[in-house]
Amino acid sequence: MAGGAEVIVIGAGLGGMSAGALLARSGRETIVFERASFIGGRLHVVVKDGFTLDYGIHMSRFHKRGKLAEVMRAAGGRPSFLSPGPPEVFKDGKFFPFPSAPAELIKTELLSPLSKLSLLKLLAWTAFNNPDRAGDASLADALSGIDAPDDLSELCALLASTALANPYPELASMKELKKFLEQLLKNPFEPVGYIKGGWNGFFDLMKKNIESNGKILTRRKVERVIFSKGRAAGVESDGEKFECDALVCAVPFQDALKIIDAKHMSPPLVEYAKRVEPTCGVVVDFALSRPVSDKSGLILTPDPVTMGCLISNVDPSLAPQGKQLGTWLQFIPASRADEKEFVKKTQKELLDLIGRALPGVWDACEWKRELFTPVVDGAMLKVGQTWNERAPLVSPEVHNLFFAGDTTCGVGAGGDIALDSALRVSKLVRKYLRK
Ligand SMILES: Cc1cc2nc3c(=O)[nH]c(=O)nc-3n(C[C@H](O)[C@H](O)[C@H](O)COP(=O)(O)OP(=O)(O)OC[C@H]3O[C@@H](n4cnc5c(N)ncnc54)[C@H](O)[C@@H]3O)c2cc1C
Repeated sequence: MAGGAEVIVIGAGLGGMSAGALLARSGRETIVFERASFIGGRLHVVVKDGFTLDYGIHMSRFHKRGKLAEVMRAAGGRPSFLSPGPPEVFKDGKFFPFPSAPAELIKTELLSPLSKLSLLKLLAWTAFNNPDRAGDASLADALSGIDAPDDLSELCALLASTALANPYPELASMKELKKFLEQLLKNPFEPVGYIKGGWNGFFDLMKKNIESNGKILTRRKVERVIFSKGRAAGVESDGEKFECDALVCAVPFQDALKIIDAKHMSPPLVEYAKRVEPTCGVVVDFALSRPVSDKSGLILTPDPVTMGCLISNVDPSLAPQGKQLGTWLQFIPASRADEKEFVKKTQKELLDLIGRALPGVWDACEWKRELFTPVVDGAMLKVGQTWNERAPLVSPEVHNLFFAGDTTCGVGAGGDIALDSALRVSKLVRKYLRK
């Protein structure tokens, strides 16, 4: 063996870095293996020409009451958040306030008076067909159950894309939507926040914790997990073997079977790894030589469903003084991710749409970064992939093999799932190691 540690974590994304930091901080020597040359995974932060770019939009749910704040506090940090401005919908060349509270739903111009009545019917339908008791349904099922008018269907699709990062009503889970609305009722005033100073501060804190009692090895792909006597005994990387007492696999579950022999996983888990469906999208980040708008909230468009933000209006430290940084995401169906022409066409349409929403943006553009992101959220919040249907945090078969990241049964959406899983996994690992 080339060495090892009490805990090995595979993957230095949000989930792996958080789990590694909390375990190292609790006194467990931890090594994090990362195949890339950088940490952060799908939240890899890049600084260019004085602009700090997250990988597309990266907002967090529920500010200081959310999972990001909880992880940072547990890692000895003092989380601080900024609030974006009110969200807006850009439709037919005009901006409308996006109703994000019950009172705003009554006032919104996005719904006709009759549709506002239909909204009450939708609430009644949801209460009657409570997805926790009656079984999950899709948003489209609920909308067709009340014969919803088009404007209400469109608004609900926007709600699902912001709350669940799922713009497809025929897939979006009512069970996840209900859970989100319950959380929102508990935190109505701060539904979304941006980490002050950008995500680098978060990763620096996690890194400091890990390096206080372990290390992060980048450019270190784990080729396989080694099993011995029914336990995860370590990993093999670059032909070397590293042993451990507990192993946290924090890679998206679609990749788990590349490193874990299926015979060590139960058939349902193997099935999940094979079928887990991510959300998929194209992103453009744009650096502007001058401000083009003072909007600082999320800008949503219904057709196609996209969302963007002039993120340096939320946190001015992300762009040099007098300049502006924006980012925009358009979802595309995962089934079309392999169609290069379709992806290219979508990227072009997205640029045109941003140009209409923010006149003058492309004249002021110093440079832009166009990304194709085949995995936005690792597990789309759809019927069949809800929180208790995703991968468990500990393997039912191998008791020292744990899972973290946004394809597990952590609660929330995207990054929050990864953070929630890390909080819970670090407790489970500590408990296991105490035995
Ligand atoms: C454009 C975009 C916008 C997003 N917006 C938001 C948002 O606003 N809010 C939000 O909450 N979430 C958002 N997300 C989702 C969020 O980024 C992810 O949920 C989160 O980063 C997932 O973290 P993770 O640790 O689970 O996985 P990952 O970030 O994928 O980390 C897994 C890591 O494992 C490494 N790895 C894989 N295989 C191996 C191996 N064999 N050996 C070693 N290392 C390996 C990978 O290189 C990677 O670094 C967005 C994502 C994207 C792409």
